[in-house]
Amino acid sequence: MTATVIDGKAFAATVRENVAAHVTRIKDESGVTPGLAVVLVGEDPASQVYVRSKGKQTVEVGMKSVEHKLDVDTSEADLLALIDQLNNDESIHGILVQLPLPAHLNEDLVINSIDPAKDVDGFHISNVGLLGTGQKAMVPCTPLGCLMMLRDHHGSLSGMNAVVIGRSNIVGKPMANLLLGDSCTVTIAHSRTKDLPDVVRAADIVVAAVGRPEMVPGDWIREGATVIDVGINRIERDGKNKLVGDVDYVSCSEVAGAITPVPGGVGPMTIACLLANTLTACCRANNLVEPEGLTA
Ligand code: NDP
Repeated sequence: MTATVIDGKAFAATVRENVAAHVTRIKDESGVTPGLAVVLVGEDPASQVYVRSKGKQTVEVGMKSVEHKLDVDTSEADLLALIDQLNNDESIHGILVQLPLPAHLNEDLVINSIDPAKDVDGFHISNVGLLGTGQKAMVPCTPLGCLMMLRDHHGSLSGMNAVVIGRSNIVGKPMANLLLGDSCTVTIAHSRTKDLPDVVRAADIVVAAVGRPEMVPGDWIREGATVIDVGINRIERDGKNKLVGDVDYVSCSEVAGAITPVPGGVGPMTIACLLANTLTACCRANNLVEPEGLTA
């Protein structure tokens, strides 16, 4: 079997078009422009690239984009004061603090100081609790993007066996909760899981969020399973710098029914879902009808 490639780049473009259409409608109907504020502390090169890309795409869908770039030695008090100001700014519907933060800043404290209604990353403890109890939450962008691709490919996920490899707070755990919400039978695997290959072989859906280049080989994959590769790993191969996922794309795509490539799979969906979350937050804040298909 040769797997169908789930094209995250193309799918993300349709999500952005959908978001842009709703932004236009909302502006026309209510005069409200959804606004996203991104806060970057320090000069981490990868974070700078992400923030630039987020700002550009926010503007492209017709939203207001605000960037706050703070010195690496910004105090916690100053950062919290900025978040308080953004929490109280009615033109801002989404607030994202780019992670990781410099070591002297308490990440949990900072994230939990964001108004949960504006927490478009879905990392605030209230949103974690809402998602965990099956209530309306702001959902972390990367797992939301994976869920959208799975729903688009399969329609209903009800009754499917899903194995999520990785139990991080930003990907693995929320992914598992979302799949449970769609009535999958979910297993969460991690570094202490016994017989991982056999656990993965039982899956109709495999989500790999490990951070280990090409760790999952094709012979762990059940014939026809759907493989979602969240991993982003830089490796040297044949003297070249290359981006690879957590699954071995070549061998897995010979067995899987469908697979996301790296790059061009989950990655582009993450920013598209950030825009979708900002739109959702704006609709909720202004009692506007929420667009369908852009939330969990
Ligand atoms: P973390 O490092 O926070 O978590 C990795 C998880 O993988 C842990 O739960 C760990 O288990 C588990 N793990 C590590 N080694 C093994 C192993 N040998 N067997 C089974 N499980 C293992 O990573 P993240 O969740 O933040 O990210 C995962 C990957 O996804 C990374 O490559 C990251 O770059 C990528 N990513 C991509 C995004 C995108 O937009 N596409 C967004 C966010 C992340 P344990 O808990 O036991 O240590």
